[in-house]
Amino acid sequence: MNILFVSPEIFPYSKTGGLADVAGSLPIALSKLDCNLMVVAPYYKTTRKKWPSIVETGKRVAVSIDKFRVQGTLLKNPDSPFPMYFINQPAYFNREFLYGDAEGDYSDNAERFIFFSKAVMEACAVLGFYPDIIHCHDWQTGLIPVYLKTLYRDRTVYKNTAVVFTVHNLAYQGNFGFHHYAMTGLSEDLYNPEALEFYGYFSFLKAGLIYSDVITTVSGTYRDEILKKENGCGMEGVLKNRIKDLEGIENGIDSEKWNPARDASIAARFSPKDRGGKQGCRLDLLKHFKIKVSPKNPIVVLITRLIDQKGVDLVIRAMDSIMERNVSFVLLGSGDPEYEEFFKNFSIKYPGKVGVHIGFSEDLARKIYAGADLFLMPSKFEPCGLTQLIAMRYGAVPVVRAVGGLIDTVHPFDSGKDTGNGFCFKGFSPEDLLNTLDRAITEFHRKKSWGKLVKRVMEENHSWESPAKRYIQLYKKAIHKRI
Ligand code: ADP
Repeated sequence: MNILFVSPEIFPYSKTGGLADVAGSLPIALSKLDCNLMVVAPYYKTTRKKWPSIVETGKRVAVSIDKFRVQGTLLKNPDSPFPMYFINQPAYFNREFLYGDAEGDYSDNAERFIFFSKAVMEACAVLGFYPDIIHCHDWQTGLIPVYLKTLYRDRTVYKNTAVVFTVHNLAYQGNFGFHHYAMTGLSEDLYNPEALEFYGYFSFLKAGLIYSDVITTVSGTYRDEILKKENGCGMEGVLKNRIKDLEGIENGIDSEKWNPARDASIAARFSPKDRGGKQGCRLDLLKHFKIKVSPKNPIVVLITRLIDQKGVDLVIRAMDSIMERNVSFVLLGSGDPEYEEFFKNFSIKYPGKVGVHIGFSEDLARKIYAGADLFLMPSKFEPCGLTQLIAMRYGAVPVVRAVGGLIDTVHPFDSGKDTGNGFCFKGFSPEDLLNTLDRAITEFHRKKSWGKLVKRVMEENHSWESPAKRYIQLYKKAIHKRI
Protein backbone atom coordinates (compact mmCIF):
# COMPACT_ATOMS: atom_id res chain seq x y z
CA MET A 1 0.00 0.00 0.00
CA ASN A 2 1.44 3.42 -0.99
CA ILE A 3 0.80 6.01 1.71
CA LEU A 4 1.43 9.71 1.41
CA PHE A 5 1.61 11.05 4.96
CA VAL A 6 1.30 14.84 5.27
CA SER A 7 1.74 16.88 8.43
CA PRO A 8 2.51 20.56 9.13
CA GLU A 9 4.99 19.49 11.82
CA ILE A 10 7.11 16.38 12.28
CA PHE A 11 9.51 15.58 15.09
CA PRO A 12 12.54 15.86 15.05
CA TYR A 13 12.40 18.49 12.29
CA SER A 14 9.74 20.81 13.71
CA LYS A 15 7.49 20.70 16.75
CA THR A 16 4.97 22.82 18.62
CA GLY A 17 3.10 19.95 20.33
CA GLY A 18 1.95 16.35 20.28
CA LEU A 19 1.09 16.35 16.56
CA ALA A 20 4.82 16.45 15.77
CA ASP A 21 5.45 13.44 18.02
CA VAL A 22 2.70 11.46 16.30
CA ALA A 23 3.80 12.44 12.80
CA GLY A 24 7.40 11.52 13.59
CA SER A 25 6.71 8.16 15.18
CA LEU A 26 3.60 6.67 13.52
CA PRO A 27 5.40 6.39 10.13
CA ILE A 28 8.15 4.31 11.79
CA ALA A 29 5.52 1.85 13.03
CA LEU A 30 3.69 1.88 9.67
CA SER A 31 6.85 1.15 7.71
CA LYS A 32 7.24 -2.06 9.73
CA LEU A 33 3.81 -3.14 8.46
CA ASP A 34 4.62 -3.44 4.82
CA CYS A 35 3.63 0.08 3.82
CA ASN A 36 5.38 2.09 1.19
CA LEU A 37 5.49 5.55 2.73
CA MET A 38 6.29 9.04 1.61
CA VAL A 39 6.16 11.66 4.36
CA VAL A 40 5.99 15.38 3.54
CA ALA A 41 6.31 18.50 5.73
CA PRO A 42 7.24 22.16 5.20
CA TYR A 43 10.92 23.12 5.34
CA TYR A 44 10.97 25.58 8.23
CA LYS A 45 13.86 27.69 9.47
CA THR A 46 14.31 25.42 12.52
CA THR A 47 14.53 22.37 10.21
CA ARG A 48 17.12 24.16 8.06
CA LYS A 49 19.21 25.07 11.13
CA LYS A 50 19.18 21.70 12.84
CA TRP A 51 19.34 19.33 9.86
CA PRO A 52 22.26 20.06 7.54
CA SER A 53 21.95 16.47 6.23
CA ILE A 54 18.77 17.41 4.33
CA VAL A 55 19.57 17.72 0.61
CA GLU A 56 17.97 19.15 -2.53
CA THR A 57 16.39 16.52 -4.79
CA GLY A 58 16.78 18.79 -7.82
CA LYS A 59 13.00 18.60 -8.31
CA ARG A 60 10.63 21.56 -8.25
CA VAL A 61 6.92 22.20 -7.98
CA ALA A 62 5.00 25.25 -9.17
CA VAL A 63 1.45 26.10 -8.13
CA SER A 64 -1.02 28.91 -8.74
CA ILE A 65 -1.83 31.17 -5.84
CA ASP A 66 -4.50 33.56 -7.06
CA LYS A 67 -3.05 35.06 -10.26
CA PHE A 68 0.55 34.17 -9.46
CA ARG A 69 2.74 31.11 -9.96
CA VAL A 70 4.71 30.23 -6.85
CA GLN A 71 7.61 27.80 -6.96
CA GLY A 72 8.94 25.46 -4.33
CA THR A 73 11.78 22.96 -4.27
CA LEU A 74 11.66 19.42 -2.92
CA LEU A 75 14.22 18.36 -0.36
CA LYS A 76 14.89 14.99 1.22
CA ASN A 77 16.55 13.66 4.33
CA PRO A 78 18.55 10.63 3.13
CA ASP A 79 19.15 9.52 6.74
CA SER A 80 15.50 9.25 7.78
CA PRO A 81 14.08 5.83 8.77
CA PHE A 82 11.29 6.47 6.21
CA PRO A 83 11.27 8.50 2.95
CA MET A 84 11.08 12.05 4.32
CA TYR A 85 10.52 14.97 1.95
CA PHE A 86 10.26 18.71 2.59
CA ILE A 87 8.73 21.52 0.62
CA ASN A 88 10.98 24.54 0.55
CA GLN A 89 9.53 27.98 -0.10
CA PRO A 90 11.60 30.44 1.96
CA ALA A 91 9.12 33.35 1.79
CA TYR A 92 6.51 31.16 3.47
CA PHE A 93 8.45 28.88 5.76
CA ASN A 94 11.88 30.34 6.55
CA ARG A 95 10.57 32.12 9.65
CA GLU A 96 11.43 32.03 13.34
CA PHE A 97 8.26 30.12 14.30
CA LEU A 98 5.90 27.64 12.63
CA TYR A 99 2.53 29.37 12.74
CA GLY A 100 2.96 32.72 14.49
CA ASP A 101 4.95 34.76 17.00
CA ALA A 102 4.24 36.71 20.20
CA GLU A 103 2.03 39.09 18.18
CA GLY A 104 -0.27 36.23 17.16
CA ASP A 105 -0.76 33.98 14.13
CA TYR A 106 1.04 34.94 10.92
CA SER A 107 -1.44 36.92 8.83
CA ASP A 108 -0.72 34.88 5.70
CA ASN A 109 -1.27 31.43 7.23
CA ALA A 110 -4.10 30.72 4.77
CA GLU A 111 -1.80 31.45 1.84
CA ARG A 112 1.10 29.46 3.36
CA PHE A 113 -0.97 26.32 3.76
CA ILE A 114 -2.85 26.69 0.48
CA PHE A 115 0.58 26.72 -1.12
CA PHE A 116 1.75 23.76 0.96
CA SER A 117 -1.34 21.69 0.11
CA LYS A 118 -1.09 22.36 -3.61
CA ALA A 119 2.67 21.78 -3.57
CA VAL A 120 2.09 18.38 -1.92
CA MET A 121 -0.40 17.48 -4.67
CA GLU A 122 2.18 18.41 -7.32
CA ALA A 123 5.00 16.60 -5.49
CA CYS A 124 3.48 13.15 -6.09
CA ALA A 125 3.46 13.67 -9.83
CA VAL A 126 6.98 15.07 -9.84
CA LEU A 127 8.32 12.19 -7.72
CA GLY A 128 6.25 9.52 -9.49
CA PHE A 129 4.54 8.45 -6.26
CA TYR A 130 1.07 6.94 -6.81
CA PRO A 131 -0.63 7.00 -3.38
CA ASP A 132 -3.38 4.55 -2.43
CA ILE A 133 -3.90 6.68 0.65
CA ILE A 134 -3.20 10.27 1.56
CA HIS A 135 -3.18 10.59 5.33
CA CYS A 136 -3.62 14.27 6.30
CA HIS A 137 -3.16 15.78 9.75
CA ASP A 138 -4.96 18.83 11.17
CA TRP A 139 -6.39 21.93 9.55
CA GLN A 140 -3.21 22.93 7.72
CA THR A 141 -3.75 19.93 5.41
CA GLY A 142 -7.57 20.18 5.28
CA LEU A 143 -7.65 21.39 1.67
CA ILE A 144 -5.79 18.36 0.34
CA PRO A 145 -8.93 16.14 0.40
CA VAL A 146 -10.80 18.87 -1.52
CA TYR A 147 -8.05 19.19 -4.12
CA LEU A 148 -7.97 15.41 -4.50
CA LYS A 149 -11.71 15.32 -5.23
CA THR A 150 -11.79 18.43 -7.48
CA LEU A 151 -8.83 20.06 -9.22
CA TYR A 152 -6.67 16.92 -9.14
CA ARG A 153 -9.37 14.33 -9.73
CA ASP A 154 -8.26 13.45 -13.23
CA ARG A 155 -4.55 13.25 -12.55
CA THR A 156 -3.20 9.77 -13.27
CA VAL A 157 -1.21 9.62 -10.02
CA TYR A 158 -4.43 10.01 -8.02
CA LYS A 159 -6.53 7.53 -9.99
CA ASN A 160 -6.84 5.14 -7.04
CA THR A 161 -6.31 7.46 -4.10
CA ALA A 162 -8.46 7.64 -0.97
CA VAL A 163 -7.95 10.12 1.83
CA VAL A 164 -7.90 9.82 5.63
CA PHE A 165 -7.98 12.97 7.73
CA THR A 166 -6.88 12.94 11.38
CA VAL A 167 -8.05 15.68 13.73
CA HIS A 168 -5.59 16.09 16.60
CA ASN A 169 -7.49 18.98 18.16
CA LEU A 170 -10.83 20.23 16.91
CA ALA A 171 -10.30 23.62 18.53
CA TYR A 172 -7.78 24.56 15.81
CA GLN A 173 -9.82 25.05 12.67
CA GLY A 174 -7.99 27.33 10.25
CA ASN A 175 -10.95 29.64 9.65
CA PHE A 176 -10.19 32.62 7.40
CA GLY A 177 -12.05 35.50 5.77
CA PHE A 178 -13.56 34.97 2.34
CA HIS A 179 -10.97 37.29 0.74
CA HIS A 180 -8.44 34.44 1.15
CA TYR A 181 -10.64 32.04 -0.79
CA ALA A 182 -9.60 33.15 -4.29
CA MET A 183 -6.08 31.90 -3.57
CA THR A 184 -7.35 28.31 -3.32
CA GLY A 185 -8.24 28.16 -7.00
CA LEU A 186 -11.42 26.29 -6.01
CA SER A 187 -14.79 27.06 -7.53
CA GLU A 188 -16.92 29.63 -5.68
CA ASP A 189 -19.72 27.04 -5.81
CA LEU A 190 -17.97 25.26 -2.94
CA TYR A 191 -18.22 28.32 -0.72
CA ASN A 192 -21.51 27.42 0.92
CA PRO A 193 -22.61 26.01 4.31
CA GLU A 194 -22.76 22.43 2.91
CA ALA A 195 -19.11 22.65 1.91
CA LEU A 196 -16.30 25.03 2.87
CA GLU A 197 -18.18 27.95 4.43
CA PHE A 198 -18.36 27.95 8.23
CA TYR A 199 -20.37 30.75 9.85
CA GLY A 200 -19.11 33.39 7.43
CA TYR A 201 -15.58 32.05 7.22
CA PHE A 202 -13.76 29.71 4.90
CA SER A 203 -12.68 26.73 7.02
CA PHE A 204 -9.75 24.42 6.27
CA LEU A 205 -10.83 22.00 9.01
CA LYS A 206 -14.39 21.73 7.72
CA ALA A 207 -13.00 21.08 4.24
CA GLY A 208 -11.04 18.12 5.60
CA LEU A 209 -14.04 16.80 7.54
CA ILE A 210 -16.32 16.90 4.52
CA TYR A 211 -14.05 15.74 1.72
CA SER A 212 -12.14 12.87 3.37
CA ASP A 213 -13.19 9.26 2.96
CA VAL A 214 -12.50 8.47 6.60
CA ILE A 215 -11.99 10.82 9.55
CA THR A 216 -10.09 9.84 12.66
CA THR A 217 -9.36 11.50 15.93
CA VAL A 218 -6.91 10.56 18.62
CA SER A 219 -8.90 8.72 21.29
CA GLY A 220 -12.21 6.88 21.57
CA THR A 221 -13.64 9.17 24.25
CA TYR A 222 -12.69 12.37 22.39
CA ARG A 223 -14.35 10.90 19.30
CA ASP A 224 -17.61 10.64 21.27
CA GLU A 225 -17.15 14.01 23.00
CA ILE A 226 -16.80 16.01 19.79
CA LEU A 227 -20.17 14.82 18.55
CA LYS A 228 -21.73 16.87 21.36
CA LYS A 229 -22.32 20.60 21.40
CA GLU A 230 -20.10 21.23 24.46
CA ASN A 231 -16.99 19.85 22.76
CA GLY A 232 -17.84 20.05 19.08
CA CYS A 233 -16.42 23.58 18.60
CA GLY A 234 -19.30 24.27 16.20
CA MET A 235 -18.36 21.27 14.01
CA GLU A 236 -20.64 18.78 15.80
CA GLY A 237 -23.27 18.96 13.04
CA VAL A 238 -20.67 18.31 10.33
CA LEU A 239 -19.29 15.41 12.37
CA LYS A 240 -22.71 13.89 13.00
CA ASN A 241 -23.25 13.77 9.25
CA ARG A 242 -20.04 11.74 8.99
CA ILE A 243 -20.57 9.59 12.07
CA LYS A 244 -20.15 6.28 10.21
CA ASP A 245 -16.76 7.39 8.96
CA LEU A 246 -15.53 8.89 12.22
CA GLU A 247 -13.19 6.73 14.30
CA GLY A 248 -11.10 7.22 17.43
CA ILE A 249 -7.63 5.68 17.51
CA GLU A 250 -5.62 6.32 20.65
CA ASN A 251 -2.18 7.81 20.09
CA GLY A 252 0.93 5.91 20.99
CA ILE A 253 4.43 7.09 21.80
CA ASP A 254 7.77 6.05 20.39
CA SER A 255 8.89 3.76 23.17
CA GLU A 256 12.51 3.85 21.98
CA LYS A 257 12.67 7.63 21.87
CA TRP A 258 11.10 7.86 25.33
CA ASN A 259 13.04 5.22 27.20
CA PRO A 260 14.49 5.95 30.66
CA ALA A 261 16.67 2.84 30.39
CA ARG A 262 18.57 4.41 27.45
CA ASP A 263 17.99 8.17 27.73
CA ALA A 264 21.38 9.92 27.60
CA SER A 265 19.98 13.29 28.66
CA ILE A 266 18.88 12.23 32.15
CA ALA A 267 21.06 11.93 35.26
CA ALA A 268 20.72 8.15 35.65
CA ARG A 269 19.09 5.34 33.72
CA PHE A 270 16.27 3.23 35.16
CA SER A 271 13.70 0.64 34.13
CA PRO A 272 10.56 -0.91 35.67
CA LYS A 273 12.59 -3.73 37.21
CA ASP A 274 15.53 -1.59 38.30
CA ARG A 275 14.19 1.77 39.39
CA GLY A 276 17.24 2.78 41.43
CA GLY A 277 18.27 5.47 38.92
CA LYS A 278 14.99 7.32 39.40
CA GLN A 279 16.24 8.66 42.76
CA GLY A 280 19.30 10.13 41.03
CA CYS A 281 17.01 11.85 38.52
CA ARG A 282 14.82 13.25 41.33
CA LEU A 283 17.85 14.71 43.11
CA ASP A 284 19.20 16.09 39.83
CA LEU A 285 15.88 17.83 39.14
CA LEU A 286 15.76 19.40 42.62
CA LYS A 287 19.35 20.57 42.21
CA HIS A 288 18.67 22.02 38.75
CA PHE A 289 15.89 24.24 40.11
CA LYS A 290 17.68 24.89 43.47
CA ILE A 291 14.75 23.37 45.34
CA LYS A 292 15.32 22.97 49.08
CA VAL A 293 12.28 20.81 49.94
CA SER A 294 13.37 17.41 51.27
CA PRO A 295 13.47 14.73 48.52
CA LYS A 296 11.37 12.60 50.86
CA ASN A 297 8.39 14.62 49.63
CA PRO A 298 6.79 14.22 46.23
CA ILE A 299 7.89 16.29 43.24
CA VAL A 300 4.82 17.56 41.40
CA VAL A 301 5.38 18.69 37.81
CA LEU A 302 3.66 20.15 34.77
CA ILE A 303 5.03 20.15 31.21
CA THR A 304 2.59 21.93 29.00
CA ARG A 305 1.68 24.59 26.53
CA LEU A 306 0.42 27.40 28.76
CA ILE A 307 -3.01 27.73 27.22
CA ASP A 308 -6.58 27.73 28.47
CA GLN A 309 -7.22 24.15 27.24
CA LYS A 310 -4.64 22.70 29.62
CA GLY A 311 -6.45 23.90 32.77
CA VAL A 312 -3.56 26.13 33.70
CA ASP A 313 -5.88 28.63 35.42
CA LEU A 314 -6.96 25.85 37.80
CA VAL A 315 -3.36 25.33 38.88
CA ILE A 316 -2.89 29.07 39.29
CA ARG A 317 -5.98 29.29 41.49
CA ALA A 318 -4.86 26.28 43.56
CA MET A 319 -1.20 27.28 43.75
CA ASP A 320 -1.13 28.90 47.20
CA SER A 321 -2.93 25.85 48.64
CA ILE A 322 -0.57 23.47 46.82
CA MET A 323 2.29 25.34 48.49
CA GLU A 324 0.79 24.59 51.92
CA ARG A 325 1.48 20.90 51.22
CA ASN A 326 4.88 19.26 51.67
CA VAL A 327 5.72 19.07 47.99
CA SER A 328 8.06 20.67 45.52
CA PHE A 329 6.66 21.98 42.26
CA VAL A 330 8.25 22.25 38.82
CA LEU A 331 6.77 23.73 35.66
CA LEU A 332 8.10 23.76 32.10
CA GLY A 333 5.91 25.58 29.62
CA SER A 334 5.34 28.46 27.28
CA GLY A 335 2.33 30.11 25.74
CA ASP A 336 -0.07 32.75 26.97
CA PRO A 337 2.09 35.65 28.33
CA GLU A 338 -0.32 36.17 31.22
CA TYR A 339 0.07 32.56 32.40
CA GLU A 340 3.84 32.79 31.91
CA GLU A 341 3.88 35.85 34.20
CA PHE A 342 1.87 34.07 36.91
CA PHE A 343 4.32 31.18 37.08
CA LYS A 344 7.40 33.41 36.99
CA ASN A 345 5.92 35.23 39.98
CA PHE A 346 5.23 31.96 41.83
CA SER A 347 8.90 31.02 41.54
CA ILE A 348 9.78 34.37 43.14
CA LYS A 349 7.07 34.04 45.81
CA TYR A 350 8.10 30.48 46.76
CA PRO A 351 11.90 30.32 46.33
CA GLY A 352 13.39 26.92 47.07
CA LYS A 353 10.00 25.29 46.63
CA VAL A 354 8.95 26.11 43.06
CA GLY A 355 11.04 25.75 39.90
CA VAL A 356 9.79 27.37 36.71
CA HIS A 357 11.26 27.38 33.22
CA ILE A 358 9.37 29.36 30.61
CA GLY A 359 10.33 28.09 27.17
CA PHE A 360 10.41 24.97 25.02
CA SER A 361 13.22 22.54 25.78
CA GLU A 362 13.27 18.87 24.89
CA ASP A 363 16.28 18.13 27.13
CA LEU A 364 14.79 19.83 30.15
CA ALA A 365 11.47 18.07 29.51
CA ARG A 366 13.28 14.72 29.75
CA LYS A 367 15.00 15.75 32.98
CA ILE A 368 11.62 16.72 34.45
CA TYR A 369 9.77 13.57 33.32
CA ALA A 370 12.57 11.49 34.83
CA GLY A 371 12.63 13.35 38.15
CA ALA A 372 8.87 13.70 38.63
CA ASP A 373 6.72 11.73 41.07
CA LEU A 374 3.34 13.23 40.18
CA PHE A 375 2.47 14.55 36.73
CA LEU A 376 -0.33 17.09 36.83
CA MET A 377 -2.68 17.43 33.86
CA PRO A 378 -5.92 19.24 34.78
CA SER A 379 -7.04 19.79 31.17
CA LYS A 380 -10.39 21.40 30.30
CA PHE A 381 -10.48 19.04 27.35
CA GLU A 382 -7.83 16.69 25.99
CA PRO A 383 -8.04 14.92 22.61
CA CYS A 384 -5.51 12.28 23.68
CA GLY A 385 -2.56 13.79 25.50
CA LEU A 386 0.93 12.40 25.11
CA THR A 387 2.59 13.95 28.13
CA GLN A 388 0.82 11.62 30.58
CA LEU A 389 1.98 8.64 28.48
CA ILE A 390 5.57 9.86 28.46
CA ALA A 391 5.37 10.67 32.19
CA MET A 392 4.22 7.09 32.93
CA ARG A 393 7.09 5.66 30.92
CA TYR A 394 9.45 7.65 33.19
CA GLY A 395 7.76 6.48 36.39
CA ALA A 396 5.76 9.66 37.13
CA VAL A 397 2.18 8.91 38.18
CA PRO A 398 -0.44 11.07 36.41
CA VAL A 399 -2.94 13.24 38.30
CA VAL A 400 -5.47 14.20 35.65
CA ARG A 401 -8.88 15.60 34.97
CA ALA A 402 -11.10 12.82 33.60
CA VAL A 403 -11.72 14.09 30.06
CA GLY A 404 -11.08 12.85 26.52
CA GLY A 405 -8.00 10.70 26.04
CA LEU A 406 -7.13 11.07 29.72
CA ILE A 407 -10.17 8.91 30.54
CA ASP A 408 -8.92 6.27 28.11
CA THR A 409 -5.34 6.18 29.35
CA VAL A 410 -5.46 6.98 33.09
CA HIS A 411 -7.47 4.66 35.32
CA PRO A 412 -8.15 5.56 38.96
CA PHE A 413 -5.81 3.94 41.45
CA ASP A 414 -7.60 1.64 43.88
CA SER A 415 -5.35 0.85 46.83
CA GLY A 416 -7.63 -1.98 48.06
CA LYS A 417 -7.57 -3.89 44.79
CA ASP A 418 -4.16 -2.53 43.79
CA THR A 419 -5.39 -1.58 40.35
CA GLY A 420 -5.27 1.59 38.26
CA ASN A 421 -2.41 3.81 37.12
CA GLY A 422 -3.19 7.33 38.30
CA PHE A 423 -5.45 9.78 40.08
CA CYS A 424 -8.47 11.34 38.38
CA PHE A 425 -10.97 14.08 39.15
CA LYS A 426 -14.07 15.21 37.31
CA GLY A 427 -15.02 18.72 38.47
CA PHE A 428 -13.20 21.72 37.08
CA SER A 429 -12.41 23.38 40.40
CA PRO A 430 -9.31 23.98 42.58
CA GLU A 431 -10.99 21.91 45.34
CA ASP A 432 -11.33 18.86 43.08
CA LEU A 433 -7.70 19.21 42.03
CA LEU A 434 -6.48 19.63 45.63
CA ASN A 435 -8.52 16.70 47.00
CA THR A 436 -7.10 14.43 44.33
CA LEU A 437 -3.58 15.72 44.80
CA ASP A 438 -3.94 15.03 48.55
CA ARG A 439 -4.92 11.43 47.82
CA ALA A 440 -1.89 11.06 45.58
CA ILE A 441 0.43 12.59 48.21
CA THR A 442 -0.90 10.21 50.86
CA GLU A 443 -0.29 7.24 48.57
CA PHE A 444 3.19 8.50 47.73
CA HIS A 445 4.19 8.10 51.38
CA ARG A 446 3.04 4.44 51.48
CA LYS A 447 6.38 3.37 50.12
CA LYS A 448 5.67 -0.29 49.41
CA SER A 449 2.44 0.12 47.50
CA TRP A 450 3.80 3.26 45.76
CA GLY A 451 6.74 1.25 44.43
CA LYS A 452 4.34 -1.32 43.01
CA LEU A 453 2.23 1.43 41.42
CA VAL A 454 5.27 3.09 39.80
CA LYS A 455 6.44 -0.27 38.45
CA ARG A 456 3.00 -1.00 36.99
CA VAL A 457 2.77 2.46 35.44
CA MET A 458 6.20 2.09 33.83
CA GLU A 459 5.33 -1.33 32.43
CA GLU A 460 2.30 -0.12 30.49
CA ASN A 461 2.53 -0.50 26.77
CA HIS A 462 1.59 2.63 24.84
CA SER A 463 3.75 1.89 21.83
CA TRP A 464 2.50 2.42 18.26
CA GLU A 465 2.39 -1.26 17.45
CA SER A 466 -1.34 -1.81 17.87
CA PRO A 467 -2.64 1.68 16.85
CA ALA A 468 -0.57 1.40 13.64
CA LYS A 469 -2.40 -1.84 12.81
CA ARG A 470 -5.71 -0.05 13.31
CA TYR A 471 -4.63 2.68 10.90
CA ILE A 472 -3.87 0.02 8.29
CA GLN A 473 -7.38 -1.39 8.72
CA LEU A 474 -8.81 2.10 8.29
CA TYR A 475 -6.73 2.77 5.20
CA LYS A 476 -8.27 -0.38 3.73
CA LYS A 477 -11.75 0.83 4.70
CA ALA A 478 -11.06 4.21 3.06
CA ILE A 479 -9.85 2.58 -0.16
CA HIS A 480 -12.96 0.38 -0.16
CA LYS A 481 -15.44 3.21 0.28
CA ARG A 482 -13.71 5.94 -1.71
CA ILE A 483 -16.28 8.59 -2.60
P1 ADP B 1 -0.39 19.20 22.96
O1 ADP B 1 -0.10 18.62 21.63
O2 ADP B 1 -1.81 19.59 23.16
O3 ADP B 1 0.55 20.30 23.34
P2 ADP B 1 0.40 16.59 24.02
O4 ADP B 1 0.35 16.06 25.41
O5 ADP B 1 -0.31 15.80 22.98
O6 ADP B 1 -0.14 18.07 24.08
O7 ADP B 1 1.91 16.69 23.53
C1 ADP B 1 2.80 17.65 24.01
C2 ADP B 1 4.20 17.34 23.51
O8 ADP B 1 4.97 18.56 23.57
C3 ADP B 1 4.94 16.35 24.39
O9 ADP B 1 5.96 15.70 23.62
C4 ADP B 1 5.61 17.26 25.44
O10 ADP B 1 6.75 16.65 26.03
C5 ADP B 1 5.99 18.44 24.59
N1 ADP B 1 6.05 19.73 25.29
C6 ADP B 1 5.03 20.51 25.70
N2 ADP B 1 5.49 21.65 26.25
C7 ADP B 1 6.84 21.58 26.19
C8 ADP B 1 7.91 22.46 26.57
N3 ADP B 1 7.67 23.63 27.13
N4 ADP B 1 9.17 22.05 26.35
C9 ADP B 1 9.43 20.85 25.77
N5 ADP B 1 8.48 19.98 25.37
C10 ADP B 1 7.20 20.35 25.58
